[in-house]
Amino acid sequence: MSERDTLKAILRGARSRCPNCGEGALFAGYLRKADRCSHCDEDFTRIRPADGPAFFVLCITCLLLIPAQIITFRAAGEHILTGLIVLSLIMTAITLVLLRPVKGAVIGLQWAGRDYQA
Ligand SMILES: [Zn+2]
Repeated sequence: MSERDTLKAILRGARSRCPNCGEGALFAGYLRKADRCSHCDEDFTRIRPADGPAFFVLCITCLLLIPAQIITFRAAGEHILTGLIVLSLIMTAITLVLLRPVKGAVIGLQWAGRDYQA
């Protein structure tokens, strides 16, 4: 069994590329994982990241929420409702932007560690 470069696999996954070759697409949609690599035919069917990516995105988003909340409410002044709406939109956008690369990174990590489901 050959050794797999974990960091390279994570970075390739974060770029939505196959962790094995770095060329083929890892996703068949926004978040739907492809069954096989279109370039090297690596099998992804047994890799299941489950809720891991959502958990990591939640942690990152919550860390960003505190300074974003302070900045937004200082800028909004008396318009608290406007601040809440703007903050909600910003946090939703951050979540949607982060979800795919984080899921790809988790898939890359699982692929490198051969953390497959039976
Ligand atoms: Zn590949």
